[in-house]
Amino acid sequence: MKTKNRIGASIAFLLLFALLAGCTGNEEQDASANGGEDTLQVVTTYSILYDIVKNIGGDRIELHSLAPIGSNPHEYEPLPQDLQKTTDADLVFYNGLNLEAGNSWFEKLLDTSGKAGEAAPVFRLSEGVEPMYLTTEGKEGEEDPHAWLDIQNGIQYAENARDAFIEIDPEHQDVYEQNAEAYISQLEELHQEAVDQYSKIPEDERVFVTSEGAFKYFSKAYDFQAEYIWEINQENQGTPNQITRVLDIIEEQNIEGLFLETSIDPRSMEMVARETGVDIKGKVFTDSIGKPGEDGDTYLKMMQWNIDTILEGLTN
Ligand SMILES: [Zn+2]
Repeated sequence: MKTKNRIGASIAFLLLFALLAGCTGNEEQDASANGGEDTLQVVTTYSILYDIVKNIGGDRIELHSLAPIGSNPHEYEPLPQDLQKTTDADLVFYNGLNLEAGNSWFEKLLDTSGKAGEAAPVFRLSEGVEPMYLTTEGKEGEEDPHAWLDIQNGIQYAENARDAFIEIDPEHQDVYEQNAEAYISQLEELHQEAVDQYSKIPEDERVFVTSEGAFKYFSKAYDFQAEYIWEINQENQGTPNQITRVLDIIEEQNIEGLFLETSIDPRSMEMVARETGVDIKGKVFTDSIGKPGEDGDTYLKMMQWNIDTILEGLTN
């Protein structure tokens, strides 16, 4: 018996060694692999979801984001590798609420990758969020996608990601629950900080202007009035009519806070600043996190950055 066990142990050791060697060989191809054979292949439509999903999936997943960091997720042209990753994906996460709707790029991608239809493992992270609507003529009744700028909705996204992972991979329920609990407690803390910090701004000064009207959910949560040049990044950005409209608002209301967005061309807002003589107070994150290693490179950090930048910009 002893000998048999020893042989068994040797075989097990050899197998383990072979597995480890195999892993080392593959490392270059996929840096995010954790060495397990059963990691889930996951795709998100843009960087904010990428970061939230990464926090919930942890070591269990290999993750690919479609619209790259710093780009505009409203409109995107998927590359051949995006099609491949989506075809291979065990789970696909999108925002919904009219976000990935420009040129129907996401719908088309689901079609071509065989991920269309009820049974496909495609999850809308904004599920359960109470939608807010656009008001621009011709777009009334369309949903506004920017729910994540209210951190309470970010918590809902994290819970939805957790539930999706448990549905697809119930064996590792504990892992997803633990990851979600740790992450959500950080989000709750940051939401409370946002409430505390923004309340330091006098109520009648809680008003600012960005290029895109991304701050509807934010304004409702933190009691702001947010103005914009154009309401949503789809078509007609920075037309003469839009500029004239916002110049009038800034003049009538004496608005002092203009902000650029990290993922939007600054030229329209720079023109508004020149025309009004009002300074641009800083840059905020709306549709993308920052590049790795730079400011705002996670959802938590981009929201923290916005808290600090808006507070400083409107109180100085
Ligand atoms: Zn946007």
